[in-house]
Amino acid sequence: MLKKSIIKKLKTILGTGNLLIDEADLLCYSYDASGISVIPDAVALPKNKQQISDILLIAQQEKIPVVPRGAGTATTGSAVPVKGSIVICLSKMNQIKRISSTDLIAEVEPGAITKDIQNEVQKYGLFYPPDPASLKFCTIGGNVSTCAGGPCGVKYGVTKDYILGLEVVLPNSKIIKLGTKTSKGVVGYDLTKLFVGSEGTLGIITSIYLKLIPKPSYVKTIVAIFPDTNTACSTITCILTSGIRPKCAELMDHLSLSCIKEQLPFSVPQTAKALVLVEVDGSDPQGVEFEAQLIRSCCNSNKAIFSQVSEDKQYTQKLWQARRGLSPALKKLGFPHKISEDICVPRSHIADMVSIVHSLGTKYGLLSLVFGHAGDGNLHVNLLINKNDSTQLKKAEKFICELMEHTLALDGTISGEHGVGLTKRAFIKKELGDEIIKLMYKIKKDIDPNNIMNPNKLFPGKFTV
Ligand SMILES: Cc1cc2nc3c(=O)[nH]c(=O)nc-3n(C[C@H](O)[C@H](O)[C@H](O)COP(=O)(O)OP(=O)(O)OC[C@H]3O[C@@H](n4cnc5c(N)ncnc54)[C@H](O)[C@@H]3O)c2cc1C
Repeated sequence: MLKKSIIKKLKTILGTGNLLIDEADLLCYSYDASGISVIPDAVALPKNKQQISDILLIAQQEKIPVVPRGAGTATTGSAVPVKGSIVICLSKMNQIKRISSTDLIAEVEPGAITKDIQNEVQKYGLFYPPDPASLKFCTIGGNVSTCAGGPCGVKYGVTKDYILGLEVVLPNSKIIKLGTKTSKGVVGYDLTKLFVGSEGTLGIITSIYLKLIPKPSYVKTIVAIFPDTNTACSTITCILTSGIRPKCAELMDHLSLSCIKEQLPFSVPQTAKALVLVEVDGSDPQGVEFEAQLIRSCCNSNKAIFSQVSEDKQYTQKLWQARRGLSPALKKLGFPHKISEDICVPRSHIADMVSIVHSLGTKYGLLSLVFGHAGDGNLHVNLLINKNDSTQLKKAEKFICELMEHTLALDGTISGEHGVGLTKRAFIKKELGDEIIKLMYKIKKDIDPNNIMNPNKLFPGKFTV
């Protein structure tokens, strides 16, 4: 429990209603989408950087752990509080401060919702591409801190490709500005990138300068159904090697498809075993139409049993709603717990990886499925289990260990976009090796000598499912 004197100081800094200490309130901030839960001692809802700096000064003096939080949609436990911690939730710092169509830049606060930013910049004819499936409720601060990706990554890259500069409150309470407000800038080490994907372990991001691009005027969406995942994967390879760069290339295996087939705007054939969803965009309608037809012919030459270019906005919306709703739709399968991994392999190994996942499911007798941003080689592997069943839990741990080993053996990475958090701590050393981990510890120690910033996340540690 925090000392009464500390609570009093925090209340003075934050003002009425902005410090939560009641158990019911604390419970709401005790977990993220990983399902892991630890109740913090307090939740602070700051409205500006000075309040954050003042809180960090106290936390530093008293050695109180601090856990930054956006919307708590992290799937790895990275936003789960630590015992005795103060959660600093950025939801009240949600302003989109400036959008410049001349400079192609937006300045936003960390608590702004990603979809709100996309909608706002669109009014200026501009585009902020990174589009995690959670974009309607996750925050830009969380996206920066996890370097979130999404379907658009195939053509447009991920969050780090759109961060020009950051304002950060360091654990010692100092406020620093990193990067530039210009489209280029190469002065000194790229410390901006150090904070991108740092999972709240180095400081609290209080302002973000985003790079924007002109919004492409024309988009076409192509959906296709396949008799097996192999032909679906060959289609993605065919598209990626056809000389065009799709905006998105998503894959769903049989079980994933079965969970959302009622949401799709067409009737799914009985023989369907996989779905591919591809989108192309650009400023020339004929060019976009040509690319859409080329993709459809890739689908058909790879034995698609159904393929269609969407002509209608509502039809396209339904396709994407079904895709974005897939993760929650897995609840239908009736399992109390879901373990989500987001491995990434070189594109040439997508089909190998999908078949490895399916054979691991058979080996361990666990319900497993794969979907995700296959155009990037980034596959969401989901295991449906009951964690209260110790046999299932042990099997799941073995499944995941083997999955990570196979991923690394195929020159892949243990996370394409969700980060390490708590759940992938056991594997980070296998991917990075001792020297890199040592270097990371040195950086962390230098910036956060008392280890108050989101401790025990991201660095090697015990594997928790
Ligand atoms: C249904 C669903 C679909 C998803 N789809 C995708 C997807 O397609 N792609 C993808 O990449 N992810 C996806 N995710 C994961 C998640 O949405 C992302 O990781 C997202 O970036 C987290 O944002 P958040 O605001 O919820 O952050 P939180 O979960 O609150 O925090 C995430 C991390 O960021 C840190 N943090 C948050 N704000 C700050 C700040 N201002 N300063 C410093 N550190 C901070 C936290 O300490 C924590 O370590 C999905 C999650 C769900 C539930």
